[in-house]
Amino acid sequence: SASISPLRKINKVINSYAIAQQKEIDALQKNAEYRREFVADISHELKTPIFATQGYIHTLLDGAIDDKQVRMKFLKRAAKNLDSLDKLVMDLLTLNQIESGDIDFHFSEFRLKALVLEVIDQLEHKATKKGISLKFKFEEGVDYLTYGDEDKIYRVIQNLLFNAINYNNKKVGGEVEVELKAGKSSIQVSVKDNGKGIPAEDIKHIFERFYRVEKSRSKEKGGTGLGLAIVKHILEGHKSKISVSSTVGKGSVFSFSLPLIKEDEAE
Ligand code: ADP
Repeated sequence: SASISPLRKINKVINSYAIAQQKEIDALQKNAEYRREFVADISHELKTPIFATQGYIHTLLDGAIDDKQVRMKFLKRAAKNLDSLDKLVMDLLTLNQIESGDIDFHFSEFRLKALVLEVIDQLEHKATKKGISLKFKFEEGVDYLTYGDEDKIYRVIQNLLFNAINYNNKKVGGEVEVELKAGKSSIQVSVKDNGKGIPAEDIKHIFERFYRVEKSRSKEKGGTGLGLAIVKHILEGHKSKISVSSTVGKGSVFSFSLPLIKEDEAE
C-alpha cells in the first residue's frame, strides 16, 4: 500500500527471499538425512544374511565339510541366506527407483482376472506346502477390464498374497482368499487371510520400509520388510491407496481399487 516506504518494501522482498531460501535448505537437509538413514538401514539389512553365510562357509572350511550331514545342512542354509540377499537387493532397487521417481509406469488396459490367476499359479506351491488353501472369488461373466501398469500391479498382488501366506501360521485350516468386486466404475481387489493379524499400533507403520511387526520372525520367513512399502508406492503411482483392516488372532484384509473399464469404452 501507499503507506509502505520504499525501504520497508525492499526489506519485505529480502525477507521473503530469505524464507524461500531457508525452505530450500531445510528440504536439502531433510533429503541428506533421508539418504543417510536409507544407507544405514540398507547396510544393517545386508549384514545379516552376509554374516550368516560367512559363518556357514567358514565353519565348513574349518573341517565341518568332512561330515556329510553337516555339510548338506550348512550349504542349504548358506543358499537360503543368499536367496534372501538376492530378494533384498531386487526389492531395494525397485524401492529406490520408485522413491526417486526414476521408474516409468507403462499404463495400458488389461484383464485383472487373468493377472490374479497368474499370481495364484505362481504361489500355489508355496501355499500347498504350508497347508493353506488359496481361493479366488469373482463374479462369472464380468470381464474385470482395468487400466494400469500390468507388471507393477502383478507385483502388488504378489506381495500381498505372499504376506497372506507367509504370516498365516494356522496349523490346519489356513485360508487365503483373493476377491474381485466390480462397482460402477472401479474394481476392488482384496486379499484376505485368517492368519495371525496385525496389532493396531503396528498398522500405521507396516508400509514403512524395513518395518516388521516381529523382527526375527519375518526375517526367518524370508521377508525383507520392503514388500508393503513397494505396494504403497506402486498404488500411489495409480492414484490408488491400500487399506487394511486386521484383528490379532483372526486375520487381515488388504484392499485397493483400480478403474473398471466397460467393454464398450475399451480402446
Ligand atoms: P516383509 O518382507 O517382512 O513381509 P512387508 O513390508 O511385506 O515386509 O510387511 C511388513 C510387516 O507387516 C511384516 O513383517 C509383517 O510383520 C506384517 N504383515 C504384512 N502382511 C501381513 C499379514 N497378511 N498378516 C500378518 N502380518 C502381516
